[in-house]
Amino acid sequence: MSSLADRPIGKLADMILNVLWQDRLAVWSALKSRLQTDGHKAIKTAFEEAKRRLLDGQMKDHLDVRWGMNLCMHCNDNNIEKNGIAYVAPNGDGLEFNQCLNCRIGILYNVHASRALLDIYTIGVGEKDEFNGMSFYWDAIYPKELEDMAPLYEIIRAGQWIGTLSLKEQGSPQFLPFEKMKHGIARDDRSVWTADLPPAVHTAVEEFINRARDQIEVASALAHS
Ligand SMILES: [Zn+2]
Repeated sequence: MSSLADRPIGKLADMILNVLWQDRLAVWSALKSRLQTDGHKAIKTAFEEAKRRLLDGQMKDHLDVRWGMNLCMHCNDNNIEKNGIAYVAPNGDGLEFNQCLNCRIGILYNVHASRALLDIYTIGVGEKDEFNGMSFYWDAIYPKELEDMAPLYEIIRAGQWIGTLSLKEQGSPQFLPFEKMKHGIARDDRSVWTADLPPAVHTAVEEFINRARDQIEVASALAHS
């Protein structure tokens, strides 16, 4: 993996955000080594700059769209899956998980009538269904009200969004089940987050923490200043 480790940190950050490398955990491992050599601030700055390039570049036309994801901003294909809509209002508006099955990235759109606004940009970590049959996605872009809970992960099982995971406090993961994402409840309302994970999710999270240690370490450094 020396070829990866030798790349500028900004390139590594671009590779993560633009899903340019097949083995994503290998890129995170390279970033973890750079965290140790270059320091926390350098990694954080690199990601902020990469995020800006993405927002001003290929994501620009995907921030405010009609209905949701139509063509993927990365592969330009329509191999899109909708994984569920949360916080559903009486009129049917809500927060919808749109996924590109080719790139294994998700955009969560806040849907108001036909208008969809980007809320979360999330990127698959590891392989599809790798963790006890579930897929984990790291939230690269998320709203301010969730900052205190980062790093955050979305979990998909059998094509369904089943909840959000916060790994902020090591050893006590917090889970926000999809069923608790109800209209009128604040996203950061601690009363709906629980440390009491459903057994299957608990197993998946344990597997994820063991396997994605480097990713979690870098994501934690990015989340806190
Ligand atoms: Zn795609």
